[in-house]
Amino acid sequence: MRNVSYGPILPGSAIGVLGSGQLGRMFAIAARRMGYRVHTLSPDSDTPTGQVADVEINASYDDLDAVRKFARGVSAVTFEFENVPAQTAAAAAEWAPVRPSGHILHITQHRLREKTFLLESGFPVTRFRRVASRAELPLQAVETGLPAVLKTADFGYDGKGQFRITDDTQFDLAWEAVGGRTAVLEAMVDFEREISVVAARSGDGTFVHYGATENHHVNGILDISIAPARVTERVAREAVEIASAVLETLDVVGVLCVEFFVCRDGSLLINELAPRPHNSGHFTFDANLTSQFEQQLRATCALPLGDVRQFAPAAMANLLGEIWTAGEPDWSAAAAIPDVKIHLYGKEEPRVGRKMGHLTAVAGSVEKALGDVLRARSVLRPGR
Ligand code: AMP
Repeated sequence: MRNVSYGPILPGSAIGVLGSGQLGRMFAIAARRMGYRVHTLSPDSDTPTGQVADVEINASYDDLDAVRKFARGVSAVTFEFENVPAQTAAAAAEWAPVRPSGHILHITQHRLREKTFLLESGFPVTRFRRVASRAELPLQAVETGLPAVLKTADFGYDGKGQFRITDDTQFDLAWEAVGGRTAVLEAMVDFEREISVVAARSGDGTFVHYGATENHHVNGILDISIAPARVTERVAREAVEIASAVLETLDVVGVLCVEFFVCRDGSLLINELAPRPHNSGHFTFDANLTSQFEQQLRATCALPLGDVRQFAPAAMANLLGEIWTAGEPDWSAAAAIPDVKIHLYGKEEPRVGRKMGHLTAVAGSVEKALGDVLRARSVLRPGR
């Protein structure tokens, strides 16, 4: 029988998470704290989420029978990874509410669909063109201008499947880099800063947000986040207004992050959407009354959203596999800095570019928080 729930899903219930990475792990920590059970499904075993969840199911996302069985065993399904096939979300939805709904996954897991949706809904986006073949690439580059970034339409994250084209001798290399698949060519934005807004919306339309967070990337991967962002009040307000309209237009029930470029004239362009808690919102675990993960839980369970109050300025620094190259990091040295919290995701293999954990500092000013988190990250490396 279909497990439709109209009222709130109360503590003690089991919540299913599609995907098993660090976002699911932090969701599971928040959910278990409130007395929920957590089941996770992904193709992998001994996963960051599975280590914390009550039940870890090992199955391919294409195994729709396994997905249905998984959904039958829980009161609601959410996800921590948006590259789940649309039919997986649909199969889960036969047995349990899926929040946010599958149509949001369908749009946001594909850059062309996402950008087309944003453009057609009147949101500001970077100039872009669809490129379906190598032959089209130079023609579309005339439209966007160079430099431009060629990005795979699907399965891209953390700067993967992207190539920056600076001149017209690079079209072959760029087309190879995206695997010869349909791609999006985007004008390169000469931005002043990157910011994001992590926000949550409940089934009754209540909207809450964590303000504008400033983000710094290295090699296309988020490196540092600073909250609140060092932008004018007007920029922060506009970013929140746009985020509110995006969540409303998509009818999101859950958490969604909008990433922006702040242009040199102060205008905003949306870079991309993530329909789940986001790396740039990790500071909320330590600096806010209700974290982005608890907000995802509350929205999924149709509970009132929590107070988003931030206690103090915060900064977050990611820990990639590189930190381990000279041996086990010096955790005691980082732990000795009183402002700093250490988060590790339980991943065994510290590969280069792999997100292994992060540090958060909460302090009296963003400058102090940033200084502390950077100092903590630098003392981690043995033999410094
Ligand atoms: P993405 O995976 O699309 O979010 O890209 C990762 C990072 O690459 C962004 O956060 C930016 O720092 C940079 N980037 C991506 N697209 C552009 C663009 N069109 N113009 C300038 N920088 C970009």
